[in-house]
Amino acid sequence: MCLQNMPDLKNVNIHSIKANWLPNATTLDVLRLDNIHPVVSGNKWFKLKYYLADARQQQYKTVATFGGAYSNHIIATAYACKENGFKSIGIIRGEKPAQLSGTLLSAAEYSMQLQFVTRDAFKNKELLKQQFSNTYWIDEGGYGSLGATGAGEILSIVDKVENYSHIVCAVGTGTMFAGLINSIKEHQRAIGISVLKNNYSIHNEVVQLLHDPGYAGRFTIFHDYHFGGYAKHPAELIAFMNDAWHKYQLPTDIVYTAKTFYAVRQLITRHIIPQGSNVLMIHSGGLQGNTPLQKGVLPF
Ligand SMILES: *Cc1c(COP(=O)(O)O)cnc(C)c1O
Repeated sequence: MCLQNMPDLKNVNIHSIKANWLPNATTLDVLRLDNIHPVVSGNKWFKLKYYLADARQQQYKTVATFGGAYSNHIIATAYACKENGFKSIGIIRGEKPAQLSGTLLSAAEYSMQLQFVTRDAFKNKELLKQQFSNTYWIDEGGYGSLGATGAGEILSIVDKVENYSHIVCAVGTGTMFAGLINSIKEHQRAIGISVLKNNYSIHNEVVQLLHDPGYAGRFTIFHDYHFGGYAKHPAELIAFMNDAWHKYQLPTDIVYTAKTFYAVRQLITRHIIPQGSNVLMIHSGGLQGNTPLQKGVLPF
């Protein structure tokens, strides 16, 4: 069931934040999964691992999935499939644009076959799947229990992980978050920052992936840090990202990690995460998601 060509995790490191807004005896570490790979970074590797192993075991040669023009999941699937000898198909939401996004150009470079479908057609995934035979399907964003199983391995690369009281990460489909909740210990809490606006059904989607219904007591999701909605990036967020870079040398992305870091700071300074906590924020990667920004907007 093993895949040989998964990324080297040797560049992943813990980045301790030294900031004057941290109360006494409170620590904040960032797990830098963004260092896994310059383009295909972060949690997507972990989420894809068991899907690809399953596809291999079932002897599929082609893997397909769904996503938008800037999707980290699309680019990661393209790359991981190429590395592991699968053909890949990306069903992309929306008509083919005159100029492909950087994300899609990279996915095509990794030999992904891109299939553009209208926004309406994109809603009916079952109908789309019927157009391809002998294809292993991964849900949009990699949502599902095999994805959560892979994400559950993220914390196993952290030394003395039991010393952290709170694990914080961004929540898109909730798959990574569910994997983390499954893998933490009784004394630890998981905090998820929803990056979609008013996406309250995410709570149940996360619960669906938990190994034990009792684990629902381990987590909280905050819904106030979407900055206007998915991938929205008002000037306040961009200014915060610049500040995070200048003060802590922490590069973040507009979709997930900048919002998460902003939330962490606010939850700590407002003592919602209590003084004396040892917080681990997962930097889940996704820096390629900044490519829609004009050059010079960010210093990294
Ligand atoms: C996909 C992604 C997430 C969200 O992961 P889910 O498992 O869908 O919740 C978070 N951060 C980054 C950088 C991502 O690319």
